[in-house]
Amino acid sequence: MPLYKTQHLKIYNSLSREKETFKPIHQGNVGMYVCGPTVYSNVHLGNVRTFMSFDVIFRYFLHLGYKVRYVRNITDVGHIVDDEDEGEDKIAKKARLEQLEPMEVVQRYTVDFHEILKAFNFLPPSIEPTATGHIIEQIEIIKTIIDKGIGYEVNGSVYFDVVKFSETNNYGILSGRNIEDMLANTRDLDGQTDKRNPQDFALWKKAEAQHIMRWPSPWSDGFPGWHLECTAMSTKYLGNHFDIHGGGMDLKFPHHECEIAQNEACTGQSPVNYWLHANMLTLNGKKMAKSTGNNILPREILTGENTILSKTFSASVARFFMLQAHYRSILDFSDDAIVAAEKGYKRLMEAMSLLAEINPAEKSTIDISKWQQSCYNAMNDDFNTPILIAQLFEGVKFINLLNDGKESVTVADLEIFSKAMTIFIYDVLGLQAEKISDGNSNKLEGTVNMLIDMRKKAREDKNFALSDQIRDQLIALGIQLKDSKEGTTFSL
Ligand code: AMP
Ligand code: ZN
Repeated sequence: MPLYKTQHLKIYNSLSREKETFKPIHQGNVGMYVCGPTVYSNVHLGNVRTFMSFDVIFRYFLHLGYKVRYVRNITDVGHIVDDEDEGEDKIAKKARLEQLEPMEVVQRYTVDFHEILKAFNFLPPSIEPTATGHIIEQIEIIKTIIDKGIGYEVNGSVYFDVVKFSETNNYGILSGRNIEDMLANTRDLDGQTDKRNPQDFALWKKAEAQHIMRWPSPWSDGFPGWHLECTAMSTKYLGNHFDIHGGGMDLKFPHHECEIAQNEACTGQSPVNYWLHANMLTLNGKKMAKSTGNNILPREILTGENTILSKTFSASVARFFMLQAHYRSILDFSDDAIVAAEKGYKRLMEAMSLLAEINPAEKSTIDISKWQQSCYNAMNDDFNTPILIAQLFEGVKFINLLNDGKESVTVADLEIFSKAMTIFIYDVLGLQAEKISDGNSNKLEGTVNMLIDMRKKAREDKNFALSDQIRDQLIALGIQLKDSKEGTTFSL
């Protein structure tokens, strides 16, 4: 029997602002859409946190035995700087600045995104569609919205009429905003745009002569608005009504509010049963963002190449650091905090090595089933990873007591216990086993230090091909070198 039949999962729904029992539309199946990155620059650690929150949610659904269709898109057109309707497309702007084809920009940062996801042990989504691959679907949706009288065309651009929509629907249902307040608090448009109201948003924009990303449409040669792509791709692969839609908290308004409006205008129904929003990763108390430069790149965690970091950290330590906070809480990044996370992670890994050595006994003095259920209870309570990690440390306590002979477990209980620890740590949280210390670690350290010396010598001899080869081959083996004034150190 699949586990979802016995586990009672509750999810916080941003739409109802309550924790609700999870009931999928089709029994045993979950359809989940998550807004993906806009590929005009490297993803930062904040982006990674949001995608990691949904990676763990995806992993838990899979563990419960659901068949999951997880769709996460790539935004490769239509996202205007500052999330506005006027101005330059983020990708087109980058292409102009770097004198590249827009698709070269898209390719470069999509590849980077995938490399980071792999390094941080993400499961790939079931479908990863691109906005540019779904222009036809987006045009069809615009036609429907115009036919329903809620879209209007001006000078080759098409806008969504929020005021008209609000006569029959609740624009602001997700974000809790009120259309009257929105209208009262906005300035006149001074004829700067073709919109009837400042709240209206673009469905299609006519491309200026110099705009390189353009497609033919019934209204003009142009490009789709940002919100439309997610409506097109989510409904194409998951249907007009699906289970879960996720993204970062900052996408709730306007992006997700506009998605709901587009769907309701087209089909008359709300598209999503559960809206999930992951909270922000901050640095120095401020949101990590690409545009402000207040960010850390995920790769810098692995190489230590950021002045805020005292050393290198493994991808699993970064994962462990982030999952120690609940996905709906703000998390502030600091060197102290990730150093502390590393200590905790090492304790967990040491205990896992010890667990393999524990011998079973005649009877159990620990209630393993109760402990196992408390792990499920943590995840069933809106994917509460910090509580799960606290339960895993209860498990660490058990391991130490068993090792000291102060408690005992039967063969059957030991098997349940080992399996549960393994499943929650590796399958659900997505951490990767790290050997902390064993008889071979001295040999390994000696060998790597020898290679570090050889690399130093190669550099002194200006044999950079060799020094780079040594560094790159060590990286390929998961061994990172960090150069500083004091010399070169390494981390596994
Ligand atoms: P973008 O590429 O800007 O569209 O962002 C990709 C995803 O990362 C979205 O779901 C954002 O909400 C999310 N995101 C952006 N900044 C942060 C941050 N500082 N912390 C967590 N998630 C973020
Ligand atoms: Zn989206």
